[in-house]
Amino acid sequence: MAKDDVLIRIWGGRGSVACPGPKTVRYGGNTACVEVRCGPHLVIFDGGTGIRELGKALTAEAPVEADVFLTHFHLDHIAGLPFFATAYDARNRVHFHAARLDTALTLKTIVARMMSPPLFPVPVDEYRADVDFVDFSVGDRLEPHPGLVLETRALCHPGGACGYRLSWAGRTIAYVTDTEHPRDGSLDPNVQDLMAGADVAIYDATFTDAEYACYQGWGHSTWREGVRAADAAGVGTLVLFHHDPAHDDDAMDRIAADAEAARPGTLVAQDGMTLRR
Ligand SMILES: [Zn+2]
Ligand SMILES: [Zn+2]
Repeated sequence: MAKDDVLIRIWGGRGSVACPGPKTVRYGGNTACVEVRCGPHLVIFDGGTGIRELGKALTAEAPVEADVFLTHFHLDHIAGLPFFATAYDARNRVHFHAARLDTALTLKTIVARMMSPPLFPVPVDEYRADVDFVDFSVGDRLEPHPGLVLETRALCHPGGACGYRLSWAGRTIAYVTDTEHPRDGSLDPNVQDLMAGADVAIYDATFTDAEYACYQGWGHSTWREGVRAADAAGVGTLVLFHHDPAHDDDAMDRIAADAEAARPGTLVAQDGMTLRR
């Protein structure tokens, strides 16, 4: 990998709940987790069940330093954190970041609550890595390492969610999940800010158009709205993400074909898929 390349690897592309099984082997069943390598820096978006496999893979690389950026605290985005081996390994450094959303609780308090009886037997204090929890405000510009910048914007989701626009060495990656598009046919200006000219945009494509009609207000979008937003923003590659667990591999194939016809080059996230930019 060239020094300034950005490598993106999908570890979990599902939304809502993990759905392993024979009908989802090709697209995968783990919930939201995306690894982004920016030169020497390791960024991880969300801590869904996909982060367990990522943590296992990182064990061979210890010591590692990782910055984990959460979009929000729904379980499909944090359920893997108690199983994230990287945070239990004293050789590592892990910085967790999350926006203050519609709650007075800090990020550390939320993770500590999840990792406490009777929900989970191992407390967050068992994280043996050098761990810190960073709360920020949506809209902040973050620079966790020199030259690695993340712009943040509020997304339209029950309880709030934070979208990210990562920039490194002239590459831009937008991570835009969980979000619902405006129902009046307009474009969400925050989503446009995040996606503007991005090389890659990872977008919440939970529903088909037909399904969306039944789920307005649930805080999720469609692949067709993803195409519309990406076209308007001049995105390079659109990656459909946060798949409904009800969509088996055959259903995902149909979505992939429809999206390819609408916007050639559109990718559908599959666990294990990698992109280099
Ligand atoms: Zn979600
Ligand atoms: Zn959510």
